Amino acid sequence: MKYETVIGLEVHVELATDSKIFCSCSAGSYGTEPNMHVCPACCGMPGMLPVVNKRVIDFGMKAGMMLNCHINRTTTFDKKNYYYPDLPSAFQTTQWFAPIAVKGLVEIKTSTGKKGIRIKQIHMEEDAGKLVHDIREDTTHIDFNRTSVPLIEIVSEPDLSSAEEVEAYLDRLKTLLRYARVAECEMAHGTMRCDVNLSVRPEGSNVLGVRSEMKNMNSIEAIKRAIDYETFRHIDAIENGTEELVQETRRWDDIKGMSFAMRTKETAGDYRYFPDPNVMPVVIDDKWYDGIKSSLPEFPEVRFERYTTELGLSEYDARRLTESIALCECFEAACKVTGNPKDCVNWITSEVMSILGVRGITYDQLKLDGNALGELIKLVSDSKVSRVNGRKILDAMFDDGTVSPAEYAASEGLIISTDTDLIDKVVAEVVAADPKSVADYKGGKEKALMALFGKCMRQLKGNCDPQVLRKALIAKINE
Ligand code: ADP
Ligand code: MG
Ligand code: ZN
Repeated sequence: MKYETVIGLEVHVELATDSKIFCSCSAGSYGTEPNMHVCPACCGMPGMLPVVNKRVIDFGMKAGMMLNCHINRTTTFDKKNYYYPDLPSAFQTTQWFAPIAVKGLVEIKTSTGKKGIRIKQIHMEEDAGKLVHDIREDTTHIDFNRTSVPLIEIVSEPDLSSAEEVEAYLDRLKTLLRYARVAECEMAHGTMRCDVNLSVRPEGSNVLGVRSEMKNMNSIEAIKRAIDYETFRHIDAIENGTEELVQETRRWDDIKGMSFAMRTKETAGDYRYFPDPNVMPVVIDDKWYDGIKSSLPEFPEVRFERYTTELGLSEYDARRLTESIALCECFEAACKVTGNPKDCVNWITSEVMSILGVRGITYDQLKLDGNALGELIKLVSDSKVSRVNGRKILDAMFDDGTVSPAEYAASEGLIISTDTDLIDKVVAEVVAADPKSVADYKGGKEKALMALFGKCMRQLKGNCDPQVLRKALIAKINE
């Protein structure tokens, strides 16, 4: 018999707010010293009361809208009770009865075409702390920096049917949430984590099989291997009776390439969910809702379309720009100044991307002021600054966000000289000092001209229109 794989994902995404969900501790916990961002509230001290961070609701709403969800205008928080050392209050404040967003749809593209994946719901919740096991000392340390960092959990319907689709879906979530600037979604940083629910059923059947759940997967490669392994295990169990399938939580061991039973699946009853009496229901009025709605970015595809048709960019360039909303916004601001999209995309995909690469800055972290970039591009295209010096100025703009290209060029002596007397003087000196190159050039060696040209350019500190210099040089040689 032929089987199909049925997969539903629960994806945890860390929201990129400055502070935690119920206190004012910093939420940017990745890579900091342990236990630096803690207070009595996020450490679960008795008597401490939570205060909802409004930005978390903003971001939750944005995420819901990006994934085409219905937003619950009254959204509430509930307590999920369980005991574990990384959860100091012994309950997690999450959303059970009225999550921020429900009934969404995300479109993915794979080698077999387009497919819609239904979103069951998105709820907001606080993260737990991090346990760090030290095998040498045979102890476990606890880092509370991550407790109460805001998360959204995006729960899909079981609409995915292959590793390829899962990868496309996760990619899509990442793109959409990054575009809305609500999350980084970097699995390697733990800002995106994924629980994989999987079952199999005879092809064509619409009855769901018994599922297993693999928790906290944090690399796409591991997820793909785990899906293949689990699919095989389920089919083997059904076909060959190797084991009895039960609904359970399993742990994926990426080194062994196998999954192992952890515990039978807990049910909602185990968690004794109840409304958190310390967190008031959040009511989203029209003004708040409309404000968030109008702040949403244009989708990447729409931008791509506009860039290739209206602005005449190549598909290649448009794809590179639309990878990141920060690049798009910088590009669009620069275009407004120069009126020349091709020139702007050129600068971004060559000079800007090269500087980002050298400095180890991601596209999304780009903070370059697009207006200033536009001014710089214009200085170069108007032949006021040479391309090489333009790159120098761009570097200075990365060092200091307040640098104005025109002022910097003037103060550093990087403005192209239109002083033809000066150019003629330099050309005359260089030609007189290097009779060999002059003779070589006259004898047909084009390269010799480049040597002379380079010498002149160096003396002029690059502040010369290359065309003007070339003409002056040839004229002098042929005198
Ligand atoms: P629970 O509350 O027990 O975690 P949910 O209904 O919230 O169950 O489902 C959790 C995830 O598991 C969802 O992403 C859902 O799509 C997926 N899922 C549910 N049943 C199956 C199944 N039989 N096979 C694969 N995935 C499933
Ligand atoms: Mg669930
Ligand atoms: Zn705190």
